[in-house]
Amino acid sequence: MNLTNLETILKKEPSFRLKQAKEAIFKQLINDWSQALNLPEKLRKVLNKNCSLVIEAQILESHDKKSVKAAIKLTDGLKIETVLLRHGNRNTVCVSSQVGCPLGCLFCATGQGGFKRDLASEEIMEQVIFFSRYLKPLGEKVDNLVFMGMGEPFLNYENVMAAIKLLNSEETFNIGARHISISTIGIIPGIKKLGDEKLQLNLAISLHAPDNEIRSKIIPINDKYSIKNLIDAANDYLKKTKRQLMFEYIMLEHFNDSKIQAAELADLLKHLPKHLYMVNLIQYNTTKGFRPSATMAIKKFQQVLVQNGIKTTIRLRLGREVKGACGQLVGDLEK
Ligand code: SF4
Repeated sequence: MNLTNLETILKKEPSFRLKQAKEAIFKQLINDWSQALNLPEKLRKVLNKNCSLVIEAQILESHDKKSVKAAIKLTDGLKIETVLLRHGNRNTVCVSSQVGCPLGCLFCATGQGGFKRDLASEEIMEQVIFFSRYLKPLGEKVDNLVFMGMGEPFLNYENVMAAIKLLNSEETFNIGARHISISTIGIIPGIKKLGDEKLQLNLAISLHAPDNEIRSKIIPINDKYSIKNLIDAANDYLKKTKRQLMFEYIMLEHFNDSKIQAAELADLLKHLPKHLYMVNLIQYNTTKGFRPSATMAIKKFQQVLVQNGIKTTIRLRLGREVKGACGQLVGDLEK
């Protein structure tokens, strides 16, 4: 798909044509301009030649079709992955913000695969368009977005925010800001900037450890943005925005899942306003080097946090059948 030329081509046309074209892309969800019957035939041909609506992708569906993963091929041939999770009455798309990731977290398949480039805002949009088209014949639509795919969203802040503002607008998908979450590994300048945004977006911070020693072993950027500074930034964010914040914590067997570490985590968070945050314990999808914690260990960890008055949930292994952890589908398909 390539919409970079769309506005230039339509500049020569009456102003309502751009509105009609956007309606065809985002509301009718056409995948070929010949289907845009609200546009003159000559213009449809020009658009087909210069602004392809084709999204090349390979998909992998779970048996119950509740998790669907797509490897989308970009115009330069690089691939990104995006996941649709259909649970309850919600369709959530897990969006990528970069091709690969420069941060190299040890537990993450994307981080181990290296970094290629940032995604343009329209390439972020493309992922939502893809799954909107997928859901259309089922009479359903995308209603939630989480920036938890490939890449660190705050390292591509401007393009991510531009895409979010578009996805939030009535012209496109009108996805409410409260239904959009950004997950960061802890890029402090990004947390500060998000605190100044007018949109009521949700923020998730991946902690994954209660202290610098353990965290730096799996998250190299912790050497730059230490855990204390990160918690201070989270505290400032909460005081300023009064929005809910989620701390993500991947449970890795015999690494960060002991009851002592749970107590350390509770101590680390004790000065934050308890009604504004929660901890989400995540069952790890094995990539390499680490094993997922036993369910009993996760429950004991949760118990310690709850005893300290911290709201805590355990995230099911959604998307496991389609290899929902970052970076795994692209690798699989290339094999
Ligand atoms: S966990 Fe996130 S920040 Fe870390 S390497 Fe993976 S995609 Fe990048």
